[in-house]
Amino acid sequence: MKSLILVVFLFFEMTVFCFTSTFVSWEMPELEEYRSLIERLVGKPVKGTYHLIIASSTGEFMELSGLGYWFVAAAENSTIIVQPLSLVPNLTQTVAHEMCHLFLRQYRLPYWLEEGIVCYVTGEWIGRKELILDRVESLDYSEMDFMTYRSYSFSCWVEVSRILRVSTFGELVVAFGEGIDEQVE
Ligand SMILES: [Zn+2]
Repeated sequence: MKSLILVVFLFFEMTVFCFTSTFVSWEMPELEEYRSLIERLVGKPVKGTYHLIIASSTGEFMELSGLGYWFVAAAENSTIIVQPLSLVPNLTQTVAHEMCHLFLRQYRLPYWLEEGIVCYVTGEWIGRKELILDRVESLDYSEMDFMTYRSYSFSCWVEVSRILRVSTFGELVVAFGEGIDEQVE
């Protein structure tokens, strides 16, 4: 009997989530600055509402997102998952970052380019400095540790900022995109 109770308790522990959830939309006034920047870049209106999940613990964030503890947020389909708020220094910027990822997925760009464009829109690397990684386009970000991922994101931003001085977003889509995903708004 004791072992049954223990099993039931463990099962309960593993399946009960304590996150809070809400919705975020590009129409929110806090996101106006980011929305107008990405609209100017892509040359069309940017709309969309997403489900925002705020994890109650890092363990829960990892379980929900499948990512390492050092990531601040994740985005999949139309859901954004963030770490507990005490671990998110700038929630608006973090949410804008993930919303940009979700918006850009329709263009099916390589990840380094998507990450660089997202950071270009959020401006999160302005005034900061990290190690520059060579050939970001050839790197696999999914296996990186905290410090390497920071350098990776920074390097993507530097590279994309350089490219956007000489190319338009439309040209990047033609050169790197794998076609527009019609299913995404
Ligand atoms: Zn990102």
